[in-house]
Amino acid sequence: MDAPLDPIRIAIVGGGAAGIFAAISAKEENPDTQVSVFERSNRFLAKVKVSGGGRCNVTHACFEPKELVTRYPRGSRELLGPFYRWQPQDTVDWFASKGVALKTEDDGRMFPTTDSSQTIIDCLLDSARKCGVELHAKTGIDRAQVTDTGGFLLSTTANENIEFDRLILATGGGRDSVGHKIAVSMGHTTTTLAPSLFTFHIKDSRIEGLQGLSVPNAVATCPFLKLSQSGPLLITHWGMSGPAILKLSAWGARALADCNYKFNLQINWTGTLDLESAKQALLQAKQRNGAKQIGTNSLLGLPRRLWDRFLETESIDPKSKLSQVSNNQLHSIASLCVAGNYEVDGKSMNKEEFVTCGGISLREVDFKKMESKQVPNLYFAGETLDIDGVTGGFNFQAAWTTGHIAGSSAAV
Ligand SMILES: Cc1cc2nc3c(=O)[nH]c(=O)nc-3n(C[C@H](O)[C@H](O)[C@H](O)COP(=O)(O)OP(=O)(O)OC[C@H]3O[C@@H](n4cnc5c(N)ncnc54)[C@H](O)[C@@H]3O)c2cc1C
Repeated sequence: MDAPLDPIRIAIVGGGAAGIFAAISAKEENPDTQVSVFERSNRFLAKVKVSGGGRCNVTHACFEPKELVTRYPRGSRELLGPFYRWQPQDTVDWFASKGVALKTEDDGRMFPTTDSSQTIIDCLLDSARKCGVELHAKTGIDRAQVTDTGGFLLSTTANENIEFDRLILATGGGRDSVGHKIAVSMGHTTTTLAPSLFTFHIKDSRIEGLQGLSVPNAVATCPFLKLSQSGPLLITHWGMSGPAILKLSAWGARALADCNYKFNLQINWTGTLDLESAKQALLQAKQRNGAKQIGTNSLLGLPRRLWDRFLETESIDPKSKLSQVSNNQLHSIASLCVAGNYEVDGKSMNKEEFVTCGGISLREVDFKKMESKQVPNLYFAGETLDIDGVTGGFNFQAAWTTGHIAGSSAAV
């Protein structure tokens, strides 16, 4: 009779979404593996807890991989194959199989029906424990080196050295990442890191005091990057936020860091009108309803307070009849509404969701297995890679997908 084979020993560094999902996926793929997750803090899934304002935006109702990849400023090409293997529908089905139902909001974001991120944490940690994953909190990994047999010797913060056959780095994004240092020590490179998903600082009398006001569909453009994004835009007490701004910050993350977050921003508050159509619409209103006061109704579909502010900016009395407003003044108002220029002077992190742009260079990773092309048996998952998505559940989806593939590949 053959002697039983020793189980494959898998170490996962990082107990976030990617690491925990990789651990469960490894055990689900091959229950005979020995899977250990090392988390340096005292809590697993800390970011899941605070995610989505405490509700956890688990994924996005976008079930077509080719469409899904367009939501990733970095990693879109590389994620296409992985999304054919594990996409939002698989995430939804997996959580449903564990008794956790997800619901879809109007904008496509998916949350647990409980509206509590704790539901997701309980589900993941219960699943991990049930399938026999060994969870080591307060155990950071300082170093790792490749052994003569092609395995890995890990040094913990408690000065313990432990040997494994496979290593999955899932240490997340951020500067001074030990995961990046370990990968670099093994010959990998990292791309330049920069924050993504941030809001813009703008001090401008046209929006001052209007905090809380939002338009449902604005277009925000960075002329120097020839980059535009549309969607809801929110005026804050420090400047502008909302999906249109966050998406722009993601797509322009590196270039905006390079200019130290000082740049010109153009806003089309109407979302759809160009300058000529806006001018024509105002001229027509003047012709047809010349006796009406310009301030009575917000024209061009703008929120009333914003319309009033633009009239004030142009020194137009809201009580003026449309017929009394000069065509030049109407042109100026049209410009403010569809091509207002604002000077951005800094950024703030978005408290709801933020990520790091940059990480392990994607050229060095085989996305069929999430395995290093340089070091056999070394795998990557989650934000430690040079992958990030726009806001809306895409970042967790990348963590589930890469975690699933890394874990199931490492287990065989
Ligand atoms: C406030 C906030 C809200 C968010 N909300 C959403 C949302 O609703 N939807 C969405 O899709 N995305 C959201 N995101 C983004 C999402 O949280 C991340 O993209 C995701 O958590 C990445 O998962 P990860 O496992 O790769 O990294 P992380 O979640 O960062 O996990 C990495 C883990 O590794 C540990 N670690 C690091 N180094 C070591 C080491 N040397 N040894 C041991 N452990 C180590 C860290 O302590 C950490 O626990 C949010 C982010 C933030 C900051």
